[in-house]
Amino acid sequence: MYEKLSLYIDGEFIDGGPRSSQNVLNPSTLETIAHLPHADEVDLDRAIAAAHRAFESWRQTSAMDRATILRNVGARIRDEVDVIARNITLDQGKPLAEAKAEVLACADHVDWHAEECRRIYGRVIPARHSSIRQIVVHEPVGVCAAFTPWNFPFNQAIRKVAAALGAGCTLILKGPEESPSAIMAIARLFHDAGLPKGCLNIVWGKPAEISHRLITSPIVRKISFTGSVEVGKQLAALAGSHMKRVTMELGGHAPVLVFDDSDVPRAAKMLAKLKVLNAGQVCVSPTRFFVQEGAYDEFVSIFRDTLASVKVDDGLQANVNMGPVANERRVAAMSAFVEDARRLGGKVLFGGEPLQRTGHFFPPTLITDLPDSAKLMREEPFGPIAPIVRFKDVDEGIRRANSLPFGLASYVFTGSLHTATYVSNAIEAGMVNINHFGISLPETPFGGIKDSGIGVEGGSETFDGYVSAKFITQR
Ligand code: NAD
Repeated sequence: MYEKLSLYIDGEFIDGGPRSSQNVLNPSTLETIAHLPHADEVDLDRAIAAAHRAFESWRQTSAMDRATILRNVGARIRDEVDVIARNITLDQGKPLAEAKAEVLACADHVDWHAEECRRIYGRVIPARHSSIRQIVVHEPVGVCAAFTPWNFPFNQAIRKVAAALGAGCTLILKGPEESPSAIMAIARLFHDAGLPKGCLNIVWGKPAEISHRLITSPIVRKISFTGSVEVGKQLAALAGSHMKRVTMELGGHAPVLVFDDSDVPRAAKMLAKLKVLNAGQVCVSPTRFFVQEGAYDEFVSIFRDTLASVKVDDGLQANVNMGPVANERRVAAMSAFVEDARRLGGKVLFGGEPLQRTGHFFPPTLITDLPDSAKLMREEPFGPIAPIVRFKDVDEGIRRANSLPFGLASYVFTGSLHTATYVSNAIEAGMVNINHFGISLPETPFGGIKDSGIGVEGGSETFDGYVSAKFITQR
């Protein structure tokens, strides 16, 4: 059964009634699978008031009790993985196996936050006089507003929900209208786990209208957004003008440096498979492939063969490696990247055209011989396209890798310890993968620098964005 879609405000699931709504489509079949109600002004005001009321008691709840609810949700996620994952495949398109992996990873995220929220420690600062005691306590910032995207609908939302609730904050969440089932599952699981009413509220609608209303409300104290750099900058500017804290997880354009001394076949196979994960709609997807001259031909050949072996189909079919892209906008964007690449002399070695079938299908695509000025080398593709270019030496590789305003994930493949250390120090990125892919675990910090964002999610830093330091000095 597809998840029942509604608003969730003050502990109540609210059907659409006379409210406006939008269709939710399956990107593989283009069939309408459900209707999603939009919140009106009154709903938004109710959600803000409910989160405000709930904060007064939730902030007093012990970390032990918050952890109990989070652990309960983690267990429920594992119990329901099959149902939640199937619905993600239906409204987002990714292969079922990937959807299951996403959901199970979320159970681990919730567990991590359950453990870690009991360690939101303060500290004692040695005073200048024995009669004075100086302490720092970390208090929850208050009501938070979160905006999460459609590429990992469960994962992107659960990180924010678990961090906010674990810290003692309450939350109003606007999820992705095109892939809403995962968000409804989150609301249902927390509701059933006994989360007090008003602590988590779910609203839907026109993103810009909802974010404006929530960010400008004096009750909302913190904004967390995952999405494009462009929208992130707009929301951060609005939040800044109202002096609100932000966590921004924005786009990247992850450079990959493959050196002559690496295990080239292993790197090529691994990276090609990683490239098509979630049809390339991953903010940490490897996206700019710089391959050293001696390794180039072998890398390109194995990478191409690996892409050619990828089975593209409806994510519910057996043995599918890649589903459709999530919406029509991504198909159009992929075509525009290819057109620009061709115009600049790029060679399309595989793929390049939308598949002639129902659904938003664009094949894995490999393009070589591009100048760094090509759109594909400058803008985040957010789709299954890989540009591969040559470089000569380490400093040229680093210079080109660092040449964009982004700084999210990066990849280095080398057999040299010296090169690994040198590049990981010099590369401008929030996360560096050396000879493997190992980021996005609950216990490790995830976030970007430069235009890729502010703050991190996960790791022992995960609550930093949701607490304020209060200094108390006492005589
Ligand atoms: P978009 O920039 O319009 O939207 C991206 C996300 O932001 C969506 O979830 C959308 O609902 C939300 N959004 C847009 N305007 C908003 C606003 N004013 N207030 C609050 N939320 C708002 O583009 P899109 O076509 O949905 O996605 C394409 C681009 O978004 C991609 O190129 C990619 O760079 C970026 N994106 C990034 C991530 C990520 O994980 N960092 C995820 C999804 C999309």
